[in-house]
Amino acid sequence: MSGIDYSGLMPLETALAHLLALAESAPIVEAERVALADADGRVLAEPLIAGLDLPPWANSAMDGYVLCLADWSGEPLVVSQRILAGTAPEALQSGTCARIFTGAPLPAGADTVEMQEHVEVGEDGRVRFSEPLRLGQNVRPQGQETRVGDSVLPAGTRLGPIEMGLAASLGAAELLVRRRPRVAVLSTGDELIEPGQSLGPGQIYNSNRSLLIAWLRRLGCAVVDGGILADDLELTRTALAALSDVDLILSTGGVSVGEADFLGEALREEGELTFWKLAIKPGKPLTCGHFRGVPVIGLPGNPASSLVTFGLLARPYLLRRLGVQRVEPLGFQVPAGFAWSKPGKRREYLRARLEGGRVVPYPNQSSGVLRSAAWAEGLAELLEGQTLEEGDSLRFIPLSEILG
Ligand code: AMP
Ligand code: MG
Repeated sequence: MSGIDYSGLMPLETALAHLLALAESAPIVEAERVALADADGRVLAEPLIAGLDLPPWANSAMDGYVLCLADWSGEPLVVSQRILAGTAPEALQSGTCARIFTGAPLPAGADTVEMQEHVEVGEDGRVRFSEPLRLGQNVRPQGQETRVGDSVLPAGTRLGPIEMGLAASLGAAELLVRRRPRVAVLSTGDELIEPGQSLGPGQIYNSNRSLLIAWLRRLGCAVVDGGILADDLELTRTALAALSDVDLILSTGGVSVGEADFLGEALREEGELTFWKLAIKPGKPLTCGHFRGVPVIGLPGNPASSLVTFGLLARPYLLRRLGVQRVEPLGFQVPAGFAWSKPGKRREYLRARLEGGRVVPYPNQSSGVLRSAAWAEGLAELLEGQTLEEGDSLRFIPLSEILG
């Protein structure tokens, strides 16, 4: 025996590279202006250019007293004005200092602030500085963060609370963002019914629809709920044909090897079908292609498989269509709190937690067990052919990296 045979299974990287290339060939370029408050989760369509310096003028970083250091003789100084944040000071009278508060503009002619804790105010009202002063101390110079004309955020930036705060600091009331991708979610399976109905024999509740719709909305997509699709070729064709105006049809189920694959058949007949057996677990079967030109990604039906393939493949695909460059989740190396003696042909994404700084997998890693992912804080990556002793390190991808 000479090692492990990976033939016939596609490495995750290869599948991702294919999907990202497809995404780049079908970018969603239309843009719309949205109010800053509505920009969370959206993608910038143009760089954010600073229209002003930040800070716009030199200001005090402390509550204290401001003076012109070169003019100071070392004697106690008279306080000639009081400068509050939000006011416009007079120029500093020579031979004096001014009371100043955090965020207040420096008066013309002043350059140095001493914090009030290091100052004594005598009975005569004059200010004595008890510590040596350094030119420019406790001053936030004009433009120290940003200069007019700087590109502060590039096009393709995904906006979140921090970027929205930054845009606000530059006075942006609206932002130009890519339009929301329209994504249809189809859950295939004769066995599926929706919560609210009572279970008949052989039926299960549809998990993937709720999982994917909520997730897509977090990603800034406009979701078209395609509901449950029975395992039937004619119904599959009809359902796909009705979705001619979406940017992506995302289906789950019906792609297992050996099963009558109606999605695949419909794509083969009226579009294009690629079927991949991925070298990952969970999540081996994945369909991708198009139906009459509308891109389709068919995720495996088991909920944990849908989660992993959506998070590691479909999510990066969607973000790249919006022009986002960094679409892959960050992971970091963490010591294993378990041993793994069986090398696998497929890379495993264990639903796992960090306990005492070590990765601990959920005991039941079956791809049908969504509870594993609800318990988990991340995906622990076991590489193809890898074995582990306790304490060896492996990559841990926090779920928070892929869920938003
Ligand atoms: P399939 O890929 O259709 O063979 O489905 C694989 C497994 O996932 C089967 O056990 C299905 O019952 C289950 N499954 C498929 N779709 C869903 C869904 N939307 N919600 C929960 N389980 C599903
Ligand atoms: Mg099925």
